[in-house]
Amino acid sequence: MTQTRSTEETTVDLDAVRTRYRLERDKRLRPDGLGQYVFTNSGEFESFSRDPWSDAPATRETVHDDVDVTIVGTGFGGLVAGAYLRKAGLEKIRFADPAGDVGGTWYWNRYPGIACDVESLIYLPLLEEVDVLPTRKYASGEEIRQHAIALAKKFELYRDALFHTAVDSAEWNDETERWTVKTDRGDEFVSRYVILSAGLLLGPKLPIVPGIENYKGHMFHTSRWDQEYTGSDGSGGAPKLADKRVAVVGTGATGVQLVPAIAPDVKELFVVQRTPSAIDTRDDEPLDAEFWKAQPAGWQGQRRDNFIQIVHGTGAAENLVGDKWTDIAPARGMRQLAANGFSGDPALTIELADYEKMEELRARVAEIVEDSDTAAKLQPWYRHMCKRPAFSDKYLQSFNRENVTLVDSDGQGIERFTEDGIVVLGVEYKVDVVIFATGYEQNSNPATRANVNIVGREGTTLSEYWSDGLRTVHGWVSRGFPNLFHIGFTQNAHSVNFSHILEEQGKHISSAVAQAEKLGGVLVEPTEDAEDAWVQEIVERRVDASEFSAECTPGYYNAEGKPRKVSQHFGGGPIEFHEILARWRESDRYSEVLRPSNRS
Ligand code: NAP
Repeated sequence: MTQTRSTEETTVDLDAVRTRYRLERDKRLRPDGLGQYVFTNSGEFESFSRDPWSDAPATRETVHDDVDVTIVGTGFGGLVAGAYLRKAGLEKIRFADPAGDVGGTWYWNRYPGIACDVESLIYLPLLEEVDVLPTRKYASGEEIRQHAIALAKKFELYRDALFHTAVDSAEWNDETERWTVKTDRGDEFVSRYVILSAGLLLGPKLPIVPGIENYKGHMFHTSRWDQEYTGSDGSGGAPKLADKRVAVVGTGATGVQLVPAIAPDVKELFVVQRTPSAIDTRDDEPLDAEFWKAQPAGWQGQRRDNFIQIVHGTGAAENLVGDKWTDIAPARGMRQLAANGFSGDPALTIELADYEKMEELRARVAEIVEDSDTAAKLQPWYRHMCKRPAFSDKYLQSFNRENVTLVDSDGQGIERFTEDGIVVLGVEYKVDVVIFATGYEQNSNPATRANVNIVGREGTTLSEYWSDGLRTVHGWVSRGFPNLFHIGFTQNAHSVNFSHILEEQGKHISSAVAQAEKLGGVLVEPTEDAEDAWVQEIVERRVDASEFSAECTPGYYNAEGKPRKVSQHFGGGPIEFHEILARWRESDRYSEVLRPSNRS
């Protein structure tokens, strides 16, 4: 039976829409799922992972000393935790990172056009303290990287840092009550606290394409931009591609930023598409630093909170950021539900809002792209949050350029490489260079995410302890692993403004460390009751999104079409999660995560 539903303006045959979405999904589902990618961290594709921004020193003195804290990872998660710990009075803070400088993803990714599509005023952490305001609503990658450097300088986080260095293991010694940390550079040092903040998206990944080894042209991944080959100096553009036929493979958030940035510079550009992104407007504009500097203290926190209330909640009286993230389909649907006093069917209201939104985005493509066949291929046919939304005022316009060709693969991707180029749907495209904008390896196992072998009390590894599921208090601390903290995705909540999430975690962890330091003679390790209670909360509040995800076209949001049933996240969302943390601190519940040291 056809399910026909009405919104105020349109009548929708929802069955027909669902069928169309399923058809598009089914074209893309592959029996090998994740196996369609190869990771570049080792083996024959290792060169795709090499650091183009700095050479690791061939040798350096190994480090053997005692530190207060070791922080694995110098992205915003680690830096913000370091900043709060510095404020809490910790002296010797050791960062370790395989990169040559701070910045995490913003160290690695320097392709032309890179920017953050979350508003800079809410994305850049500790703006009020670092006091260098971004110049635009959407800061460029380089501006963001400079902010990371400024943060590290302001809080003196370079002092004990080890770059070009990966932590291999951290082992708890119950007698000394210290962690022994070992690195891939032969360092072995002792640390009172360890914080793991290695990020979720790891090394570059490439699609498995037959014949790639026969291709005689040049290839690289966007996250290891080839400056020499392209002549890019980090300020955008790629002048040395003026006489080159270039293929960009991948049309996710990265491809959408890259294509318009290099299109004016290259001889010919072939944009290889497997699935089109859903692309809304970006509406970038310059910012008035003086205006923001004059705002009352606390403005950034208020703006961030307002953003998550609009994106993840039922709205707020005023939408301070007012960008298109605040109009994603679920947010729109939630606002409609709230406006109707939650009287309607929530799932249906959100699905209708989703349909409206996607229709608007499909219409936007048709308005902008002059060639109707190209426009049809650029229209996304899936629900809005099946894939990460994209925002651009230049990407779709690029396809009106004479030198840009959309090579749509009807969901199949590149068929094979030849010596001279690529084959898509049986047609060979001869190209001088293939640029992969094909995303990153995602390690969804929190125990091994940082690639550090964690050995806690009585020789138990973190992988063993979490083998039946995560066990934490609020995602940041676990029994048997004293003074060890996790930043990132564990049993907590997340948001598109991920730096906000990281900062809340860093603030919370450092408050517990500060408490432990003040009391002395204690370790940060949860009681069994506290850990049980949070695991129970996670189980009871679990949101099973597997039905929604299974209907989605494959991508990393739904584990390439094989969504997990069991979520490890807090189902109440980021607003409630942050309130829980704040209340917990205010009501001084630190005793739940502190226990006497054996040495006291
Ligand atoms: P991605 O979202 O994983 O997209 C990879 C792209 O490669 C997809 O379009 C994918 O197609 C395509 N692809 C994979 N194999 C292919 C093949 N064999 N042939 C043709 N195309 C193929 O990667 P990304 O764009 O680098 O983004 C990754 C994440 O980085 C984002 O989701 C976001 O979290 C972050 N990011 C953020 C920003 C920002 O402004 N904040 C900017 C860039 C990136 P399918 O869609 O069919 O799989």
